Amino acid sequence: MPDWLPISALTANPDSVNPVNQRIVLLGPPASGKGTQAERLADCFFIPHVSTGALLRSECSRGTLLGQEADGWTSKGLLVPDELAVRIVTAWMKENGPRFIFDGFPRTVGQAEYLDSSLAELRTGLDLIVLLELPDEMICRRILERISCLKCGATFSTSLHGNQEGAPCPRCGALLVRRNDDTEEALDQRLEVYRDLTLPVVGYYEKTSPNLLHRIDAGEGSNAIFAKLSALVAYKKDEA
Ligand code: ADP
Repeated sequence: MPDWLPISALTANPDSVNPVNQRIVLLGPPASGKGTQAERLADCFFIPHVSTGALLRSECSRGTLLGQEADGWTSKGLLVPDELAVRIVTAWMKENGPRFIFDGFPRTVGQAEYLDSSLAELRTGLDLIVLLELPDEMICRRILERISCLKCGATFSTSLHGNQEGAPCPRCGALLVRRNDDTEEALDQRLEVYRDLTLPVVGYYEKTSPNLLHRIDAGEGSNAIFAKLSALVAYKKDEA
């Protein structure tokens, strides 16, 4: 498989790159760029994408019961219980069907097993799993410099983009804020949770679907990562 594909070739006519992989999981630590890349891939390939973190934040900001329940976990940098994560993903799949780019799901082996079995019930399975890898120092720097729009999901770096907390989001005009888990205290916890609960998901896929799993260095520039991801999405695995 080529490790680079001209993006213009993909954006010009998405049909021309069919068949594409349509059930995609992006794995990676906080701030590895899963959300940004998921959104770019979704726009390019017309595959619905979902961030379980964004779904939970939306529930929190609307003050729903589920949001209140989730806030107790997310604000401390802990994962919400599998049952709750599975509940929101099941509802999302009911509405959107079994084509997806998942950002932030599955995050535990239990969630990965649930996803495999629910896809098996639909007589299908995952097409592509990509792990975005980033060293801890870069994760910390990115998280502590990150401000976010809770309305449209855009994120900015105070040092790279110069946007500050309290300023209007350049994309939708809502206020930019620091996420309640983008703090030094919650970050240590999130990294520990990532190592203890989410990295085993990589081990799970290494065993169950080694030919679907790819690794990308998330320290590279966003366009370079997108080019690699696009190539993976555009090519059928037997062409790889
Ligand atoms: P990041 O990838 O930057 O940590 P996310 O937006 O993906 O941020 O997730 C934010 C928080 O939402 C997580 O720290 C966790 O508390 C909760 N969360 C998101 N997805 C899941 C999931 N699949 N299972 C359990 N908790 C989740």
